Parts: sequence; structure tokens; C-alpha cells
Amino acid sequence: ASVPLGNTVIPIVNKLHDIFAQLGSQYKIDLPQVAVVGSQSSGKSSVLEALVGRDFLPRGSDICTRRPLLLQLIRRSRKADEPEEEWGEEKKFFDFSGIRREIQAETEREAGGNKGVSDKPISLKIYSPNVLDITLVDLPGLTKVPVGDQPSDIETRIRNMIMAFIKRESCLILAVTPANADLANSDALQMAQCVDPDGHRTIGVITKLDIMDKGTDACNFLLGKVVPLQLGYVGVVNRSQEDIQFNRSIKDGLVAEEKFFCTHSVYSDIAGRCGVPQLAKKLNQILVHHIKTVLPGLKSRISAALVSVAKEYASYGEVSESKAGKGALILNVLSKYSEAFSSMIEGKNEEISTS
Ligand code: GDP
Ligand code: MG
Repeated sequence: ASVPLGNTVIPIVNKLHDIFAQLGSQYKIDLPQVAVVGSQSSGKSSVLEALVGRDFLPRGSDICTRRPLLLQLIRRSRKADEPEEEWGEEKKFFDFSGIRREIQAETEREAGGNKGVSDKPISLKIYSPNVLDITLVDLPGLTKVPVGDQPSDIETRIRNMIMAFIKRESCLILAVTPANADLANSDALQMAQCVDPDGHRTIGVITKLDIMDKGTDACNFLLGKVVPLQLGYVGVVNRSQEDIQFNRSIKDGLVAEEKFFCTHSVYSDIAGRCGVPQLAKKLNQILVHHIKTVLPGLKSRISAALVSVAKEYASYGEVSESKAGKGALILNVLSKYSEAFSSMIEGKNEEISTS
């Protein structure tokens, strides 16, 4: 609820996704997603949670995220007659409780109980009146030494898994680097640079600023003086493992974070580059801008899909009433969204502004 994210563009993008899902995989479109990358325990899951403002992801000092998690947040209230959870193609949730358990159970089902990993994603939709409409991707972290049931090529496997997501031009990358490690050696930045060399879709996130060596700070890094990034860096302080053990809430964590930055001798001077709320703000601006730049491409794909749906519809002839009816319906809905996109591209929609 702390996140100022959300815009009229994003619900339409999510809607399109659902429409295309009905049409079948041949009309698939790459949607803007936000993925976190970084080494193991760098704080990726913590950053995602703080952005959403709710506790729901498995976190910890060990390998917790072992399958890609696709989390589609949908801003909507539960209708009175809807069950709290229901099975469909994906499991739907109407609140955050139970989600962590579900993710853990799903992880074990596919990747076993002993630190194994799997590239088969877990897909979750969360319906809530308090979230932004966005898809977040939590990914396993890079790890070099195989443990438990992990195969000897674990590093390559995880790297490929991450690459599959972040190589898409429509993916925003949150490159998470912990401040208590060698910043110039960041796995996250190295991977992001491979797929986004000019850095137009990578935001640097520096975590663990609270546990750096005494007498050192990440100021030069946050200012982009070490590894420059077009979209810049945001420093954050997430809850520690101890905070998690003592059930400290996200809200308390955000208060502590603010206090940390406000009272810090170095960071108080660069407040605009610090804190989860700043990250949310930055993300919002970038997301809106990003969607605006990918709209023309999306639009031409929609038009192409429209043409082929029309053809398919025509070819139904008298074969099946209900099928034709469904085709016509989809055609209708697609036209509507195509128009919405057109007017956005032409700048008629005032909601799309990066200010
Ligand atoms: P992931 O493996 O990258 O998803 O990392 P997690 O989010 O699971 O975090 C790993 C561990 O680091 C957890 O015990 C977190 O509590 C802790 N942690 C994450 N970010 C911070 C931070 O900014 N400060 C401190 N002190 N601990 C953090
Ligand atoms: Mg994680």
C-alpha cells in the first residue's frame, strides 16, 4: 500500500495479456515486467516485498527463491460471491496470507526439498484493492558452489534462467547489489550489462547500506561514479534476518529505513537516491516511460493479431455457432483495446506522463 505505482496504462497492458491468453500462445506478447537479479541473499526478495508493501515472499540467508516467481498484481476487490482462493490455470489469491506457504510448497513440489532449483516458473495472481497492476518476477540468485541437490553446473543453470527473463526488451531490471560486498564485482550489474548494455532498462539497487564496514559508504556508487547507469541507483535498507525472526513489520522497516537515511551523515545529502519510496517513485516513472516506448510495437502486433483473428473467424463459416460467437467477442474486445492503445500513442491520454 506504500507504493505510489499504478497508472491507467498498466491495467490495459494486463488486460491485453489476458485477452491474448484466450487467443492461444501464437499471439503471445512480451509485457513489461519488473525482474530482480543479483547474487544469492543480496536482498532481491526483500526489495520486492518492500515495494509491494506486504510480507509474502520466502526470504532468508539460505537459498529461498528456487524457481522463478511470476507475480501478477491486480488491483481489484474480491466480489462477494468469489471464494477466497480458487484453482484455475493459476491459483488466485485475494489476500497475501498463505502465499508464502503456497510458494514454498510449489517450490518443493518441482525442485525438491534439498536446495534444488527449477526453471519452471510459479505463476501467481494477487487480487487486492491495494496493489498496483504490475507483474513482478522474483528470481533465484546467482550462486557458485553447488550445495544439497544442486547439480555441478548450478551457476550456468541459474544464469540461463535469469537471462531468459531479463533478455527481453520489455523487462525492467532491478539489479540488486549488497553494499557489504565488493560493489564493482556485482553479479547483478554484470548480467544486466550483458542484456542491456546502454542501461536504458536497468535500475541499480544497493541493499544492506546499514551493514557496511564502519568508515565506508556507498556514496560514489550511488552517484554512479563507479559503474555508471543511465537510470541511476537507489540505496535501500531492508529488514535484517533478526527483524524477520522478530516479525518486524514492513511498515516498521520503512520507518527505520527513513530514520537511517535522514540521520546519516553522508546519505542525508543524497536523500533523493535513497529509500524504498524513492525506488517506487523511480520505478513508476520509468515504467510509464517504458510502456510508452513499447506501445507502437505492441500496437502493430495487436493489429496483426486482429487480422489473423478476423481470418480465422471468417473461416469458421457455419461450422460452430459458439466458436464463432467467441471469436467475434474476442475480436470486439481486441478492437476496443487496440483503439485505447492508438489514442495513447497519439498522446491523447493525459495519464501517460512521466512527470
Ligand atoms: P535474496 O536471496 O536476494 O532474495 O535475499 P533475501 O531478500 O532473501 O535476503 C537475504 C537476507 O538478507 C535476509 O536475511 C534479509 O533479512 C537480509 N537483508 C536483505 N536486505 C537487507 C538490508 O538492507 N539490511 C540488512 N541488515 N539485511 C538485509
Ligand atoms: Mg530471494
